[in-house]
Amino acid sequence: MTKKYVYNFSEGNKDMRSLLGGKGANLAEMKSLGINVPPGFTITTESCNSYYENGERIKPEILKQINEQLEILEKEIGKKLGCLENPLLVSVRSGAVYSMPGMMDTILNLGLNDETTIVLAKKNNNYRFAYDSYRRFIQMFSDVVMGVEKYKFEEVLTRVKQENGYEQDSDMNEKDLFKVVEEFKAIYKKETGKEFPMSVKEQLMLAVEAVFKSWNNNRAKVYRRLHSISDKLGTAVNIQAMVFGNMGENCGTGVSFSRNPVTGEDELFGEYLINAQGEDVVAGIRTPKNISVLEEDMPNLYKEFVDISKKLEKHYKDMQDIEFTIEDGKLYILQTRNAKRTPNAVVEVAVSLVEEGVITKEEAILRIGSDEVNKLLHATFEEKSLKNAKQLTQGLAASPGAATGHIYFSAEEAVEAAKKYPVILVREETSPEDIEGMVSSQAIVTLRGGMTSHAAVVARGMGKCCVCGCQNMIIDYKDKTLRVSDEVLNEGDVISVDGSSGKVYSGEVEKVEAQFSERFKKLLSWADEIREMRVFANADNETDAKVAFDFGAEGVGLCRTEHMFFEEDRISLVRKMILAADTQERVKFLDRLQPIQSEDFYKIFKAADGKSVNIRLLDPPLHEFLPKDDKTIEVIAEEIGVTVAQLNAKIKSIAEFNPMMGHRGCRLGMTYPEIYLMQAKAISAAAIRARKDGHEVTVEIMIPLVGLEKEISYLREKIVELVEKEIHLYATDFNYKVGTMIEIPRACLIADKVAKHADFFSFGTNDLTQLTFGYSRDDAEKFIDIYKKKNILESDPFVHLDESGVLQLMEIAVNKARQTKPNIKLGICGEHGGDEKSILLCSKIGLGYVSCSPYRVIIARIAAAKAAIGAEESATTK
Ligand code: PEP
Ligand code: MG
Repeated sequence: MTKKYVYNFSEGNKDMRSLLGGKGANLAEMKSLGINVPPGFTITTESCNSYYENGERIKPEILKQINEQLEILEKEIGKKLGCLENPLLVSVRSGAVYSMPGMMDTILNLGLNDETTIVLAKKNNNYRFAYDSYRRFIQMFSDVVMGVEKYKFEEVLTRVKQENGYEQDSDMNEKDLFKVVEEFKAIYKKETGKEFPMSVKEQLMLAVEAVFKSWNNNRAKVYRRLHSISDKLGTAVNIQAMVFGNMGENCGTGVSFSRNPVTGEDELFGEYLINAQGEDVVAGIRTPKNISVLEEDMPNLYKEFVDISKKLEKHYKDMQDIEFTIEDGKLYILQTRNAKRTPNAVVEVAVSLVEEGVITKEEAILRIGSDEVNKLLHATFEEKSLKNAKQLTQGLAASPGAATGHIYFSAEEAVEAAKKYPVILVREETSPEDIEGMVSSQAIVTLRGGMTSHAAVVARGMGKCCVCGCQNMIIDYKDKTLRVSDEVLNEGDVISVDGSSGKVYSGEVEKVEAQFSERFKKLLSWADEIREMRVFANADNETDAKVAFDFGAEGVGLCRTEHMFFEEDRISLVRKMILAADTQERVKFLDRLQPIQSEDFYKIFKAADGKSVNIRLLDPPLHEFLPKDDKTIEVIAEEIGVTVAQLNAKIKSIAEFNPMMGHRGCRLGMTYPEIYLMQAKAISAAAIRARKDGHEVTVEIMIPLVGLEKEISYLREKIVELVEKEIHLYATDFNYKVGTMIEIPRACLIADKVAKHADFFSFGTNDLTQLTFGYSRDDAEKFIDIYKKKNILESDPFVHLDESGVLQLMEIAVNKARQTKPNIKLGICGEHGGDEKSILLCSKIGLGYVSCSPYRVIIARIAAAKAAIGAEESATTK
């Protein structure tokens, strides 16, 4: 049997999208629903692919099938292409699998030539209409099929209008249009060296071929790249009988959404024009009327349209975007598709549809993309204002949100300036010393650093907008200037930062504040009913923990204790502790740190009130804490009683070539056990105090960066011994567990042995990714971007968990750990814990919980529900 390349609208349905394209599949579906669709047929996407495989020629069997379908169409409508009694006119439109608005080509009024135009004019007793249609056709055909530039035709129209003192195209009368047609044909001949084709069959085949070709025009290719649409899909071509909205006062054309695409409200939202063709609405030549006015203009038709719109919505189980034309008082639907909408409308519509019984709660959850949730939780820039904004630079979208402020290049100056107006901190990179500047700023922009760099992790934790790794910026700290190409900005100048796109703009861009509607809360409650994975938060202090609990976190999954040392009074103690000459000296500073830590832990326990709190023992990449400037070095030297030279020598001896692979995590605990013991004591004291105050306490003590069984066995023993001693001493019990982070590939491979000494595993996928790939998490952005562009990496592995490598190691660890302890608690606390795609993967390998920054808790709750529903991929807005 020969393959079927061409389908009548009566032969297809909505599920044949990949073969018929979105438009073709929906036209066929509407036809089967009994909706008045002008008849026609679809040439499949496979025909487009075969056109390319066949050296850009349409195969004879496809041509044959097109002709057969054309005959069927002619019979159905009682008109014939090129016929001098009753000529058929058709539209030829592309129709890709995923909508690519305006990217490919369309030709209207095909079938007109010198003769059929006269027939059309006489039949309708309207020469103006006939010649206007003909000139539009010549112009579109010349542009789409032969590549004759549009402006050459526009020049003629402008001249004719000027000569006659007309303002609009519609002022041209039949005589003007007749002359325009002659001039257009002459342009065609001059530009192509051929006469404008009078053969309507030739017109049709050339048009079909041109639509196939438009699949590979530049703008379509760029659009596909931007929206991750495969080049292999091809486009379908829809040939459809023309209906005219421009034949008089009982005609019209319009576009309407079945609901409001901005708010999601259940009301028609659209516009239309009486006596016009579709392109007039789009081109803005005349101001269209609001769709509600149609109710007065043509009440019956309006009612019919409302009914159709509801019917289509129910049928597609989603809000629709519908194009229609009215010809001679009769309503035709030309297209329907799922409507694009704002994130707020995504939620409103999905929840309303559940309430109306159209979709299930699960379907509603699958419709919400994590990008959309992100936008709902953070301010965004107003679209129109954004279009006019001048982009300064682009970096990594490290922490979402939108902020405008005055730039400052040091934390101290940012803190000072923030007292008078909003500030944005711009740094080459941030370090713990910058923490107060970060707190005072509306946004943080850095030149260096990736998605897990200090700036990114800390900003995300604070819910603060951040763009990292803007590599083309030059910051001159001395002159206090920021240079990007030719543009120079001074301290105090205003910029706007979009943490969701990674773009930075000069000047102010208007903002839209975050929205958190009742319907969204409802959707979240459904997600909680459905999900199986638990959701915890990475929170380093009481404030973050409270924010996280408000967002629905079930506990703290990671408290990075080194982050508790960032504040000025503490950082100097930590520095002195690190730089102490010997154990005795170190213990002196540790003794001063202990009550401070204990107080912080106590506050978190109190806020958590029985929810589990996971405290990770100190894991500072030492370089982040070493003093850098001469003044600080002088002060510390004096305070610890050494000379500046001696202190510099000590700093030099501690400094590492590769700090992220150096003396950090449990290695520090092994070499200076007194540090971890101080922390265990601070935890015990805080827990005992909280218990005495009537609070439940469940604490997990987590040992970082374990790679050897002996590291964890040694440290666990010491910690348990101390905690038990404290419990005994104060005769107050509390729930505690000791476990480890899994961040080193070796730990995954020996997970069965590590599990002997651990009550839980928490995958630290930031370090695990760094060490599995061998990519520095602070520098990799330099080449990851290029790798992505060259298709070497599909995505940044620090953002989306690497399925074939890192996840495999995690799976090995999960299986091995369960061999030793079948019920061991397993979860993730790397940045991937707040990424939807990664959460789906974590669920696949059987992790019981995810922990993420407070502001991603909601995304994680929804993603965990999607995982329980069995989603493979996140929702897309393609
Ligand atoms: C990790 O490595 O994934 C982790 C959570 O720890 P940190 O980012 O603090 O190194
Ligand atoms: Mg780590």
